[in-house]
Amino acid sequence: MAEPCRVSATIDLEADGKRFGALNVPHSSNESAWGAVRVPIVAIRNGAGPTVLLTGGNHGDEYEGPIALIKLARSLEPGEIAGRVILIPALNLPAVLAGTRVSPIDQVNMNRAFPGRWDGTITLMIADYVTRRILPACDAVVDLHAGGRSLSFVPFCGMHALADAAAMARTKAALLAFGAPISLIIEEFDVAGMLDTAVEQLGRPFLFTELGGGGAASAGTVGVAERGVRNVLRHFGVLEGVPEPAATRLMHSPDASYFTVSEDRGLFELLVDLGAEVAAGQPIAQIHDIERPVRPPEVYRAERAGLLIGRRWPGLTAPGDCLAVIATDHEGGGSS
Ligand code: ZN
Repeated sequence: MAEPCRVSATIDLEADGKRFGALNVPHSSNESAWGAVRVPIVAIRNGAGPTVLLTGGNHGDEYEGPIALIKLARSLEPGEIAGRVILIPALNLPAVLAGTRVSPIDQVNMNRAFPGRWDGTITLMIADYVTRRILPACDAVVDLHAGGRSLSFVPFCGMHALADAAAMARTKAALLAFGAPISLIIEEFDVAGMLDTAVEQLGRPFLFTELGGGGAASAGTVGVAERGVRNVLRHFGVLEGVPEPAATRLMHSPDASYFTVSEDRGLFELLVDLGAEVAAGQPIAQIHDIERPVRPPEVYRAERAGLLIGRRWPGLTAPGDCLAVIATDHEGGGSS
């Protein structure tokens, strides 16, 4: 027997038209004995056609996704589309309300909670609903992330390197259609629990973004998100027309050598700015011991040549922090 689902939608996700509602997640707390967390959800449908799921706020300190999707939900009308768009602008609502990466209620990272549990904590219940009640009907999923409070990125749209060639080609076509300044193919090392993995296991195209960061959004990065999701809707035939042509640089970060990880605690000094081209062996960061100024800093060098596309944002660092991410041009890439 199928497990029950403790989450329910307050709107009919199948019906034609546009509906604003919520996913009702039971949450009995000191403040609200018979209460619930209500995750906003918007369904826009016009007859038969593909279903595209757009999510933001998977992490609560990343703002381009929630902003772009709230704007899209208000502006997109059923008459403009064929098929269905489901928007969840704040997937981990408690985290978004707190401005934190993980949920303040259960301390769970939404993007490590999939496929979720029907009888789990709040975050796991949301993941379970999305996995069992929404994803099976989706033809494509775009999950809008940014660097959050601890990272910052040159705006990119990404996909994972997939073992299946046909799935890879389908997803890469959608990636290029999104049209972010950089289209990145990335090798993910820690796939357990990700929404990405739940979608990829169904064989559906999955795109994610990393747009800016530092715990704030800019006009430019919100614009990348807004153009990108509309382009993806056009690509899948939900919106009429073809994706707006955009110059995008196809790149990849194929292994761990493209990621620089801190081994020290101290003051973090980035020696090159985001978006700079770096050479293999070039010093890119150093970490100072503020309590012992006489000590020379620990210098971190780029293992690979390429573009500095990601950086640690705060000025303090500790062992294990990701300090820098480098990407290199992907063969068959260039502008498209
Ligand atoms: Zn994120």
